[in-house]
Amino acid sequence: MRSTRGDLRSMDLDIDTVRVARTRADCALRPGEAFLGGGTFLYSEPVRPGVTGLVDLMGLGWEPWSVDGSGLRVAGTCTLAELVAGPGALGAPAGDRSGAPGPYRGLGIVGECVSALSLSAKVARTATVGGNLALGLPAGSMVGLFVALDARAVVWTPDGGSRELPVADLVTGAGRVDLAPGELLREVRVPCLALGARTVFRRASLTPTGRTAAMVTGRALPDGAGSDSAGPGGDGPGRVLLVMTASTPVPHAQLVRAGDHDALDHWIDSVDVAGGWYEDTHGTADWRAAMTRRLAHEALDELGGGA
Ligand SMILES: Cc1cc2nc3c(=O)[nH]c(=O)nc-3n(C[C@H](O)[C@H](O)[C@H](O)COP(=O)(O)OP(=O)(O)OC[C@H]3O[C@@H](n4cnc5c(N)ncnc54)[C@H](O)[C@@H]3O)c2cc1C
Repeated sequence: MRSTRGDLRSMDLDIDTVRVARTRADCALRPGEAFLGGGTFLYSEPVRPGVTGLVDLMGLGWEPWSVDGSGLRVAGTCTLAELVAGPGALGAPAGDRSGAPGPYRGLGIVGECVSALSLSAKVARTATVGGNLALGLPAGSMVGLFVALDARAVVWTPDGGSRELPVADLVTGAGRVDLAPGELLREVRVPCLALGARTVFRRASLTPTGRTAAMVTGRALPDGAGSDSAGPGGDGPGRVLLVMTASTPVPHAQLVRAGDHDALDHWIDSVDVAGGWYEDTHGTADWRAAMTRRLAHEALDELGGGA
């Protein structure tokens, strides 16, 4: 079956059908079907065993993103290029996160998180936020972005209902996510409070354009505020939320008091116990652990600096 989509027109995939979804009812998967976002992963890998058809989500025509009094919403079909051009542009320019506080300062890390993916501009115009999250790859930088922003994922369930979960809980292992068959990632929601917070981004890879092997994102918390996704650590003044991804199979998020580098070391040491460090051709476990530690201390210094 040949795709009819512009960027994918010349690519062939060994499947029988491609249906374009226009309504929610069209999103009910038939036996053998899988969702198609941008197709940048699906069209670059062998067809998963048992998949005989695709349901193209881009026909749903969802607004890519919107912002209102309750925060930011990003549709599962929002492309990475749309994310950068929209919410990314609302945030402070990269490298200027200590500039004038604004309602969207937290979005200053959007561009860097998208750049952390080893994608060409052409692929970024096609790849979607939902596809990146649904893959649950350790190097899926949308996970680190949205966990740092305390986002929740809205999932459409096949029975016509929906459920919400913190993005922090979405990835359950390398390439494994908490999505049952037929569940569709509708959108992610970022609360207002996180939009205006100071945020931080650090990454490391074996080569400058290589796949991200360690990534640390984070957000400064206002005095006395907590975070759903942070786990133990408590509330209190001068705390920051730090998130490590890419070097571990699942995201790890923790509240740390500003300047408390001993507590940060203690948390990083605990990763060995809680699931360990990820290892593949893009970096050994030991190297990723060392890089993560360095990046996390830098991130703590940056966010702990106030302003
Ligand atoms: C050159 C290249 C470099 C890449 N580099 C990286 C990288 O550095 N890090 C990384 O993580 N990935 C990388 N990828 C993998 C992938 O392209 C990206 O993760 C991309 O964001 C996937 O989005 P997509 O819309 O193209 O997904 P698709 O290929 O359309 O789908 C991917 C998976 O997600 C499912 N899916 C899609 N949308 C939804 C939804 N809304 N709800 C539920 N399930 C859904 C699909 O059924 C499929 O299983 C790369 C791919 C290429 C081709």
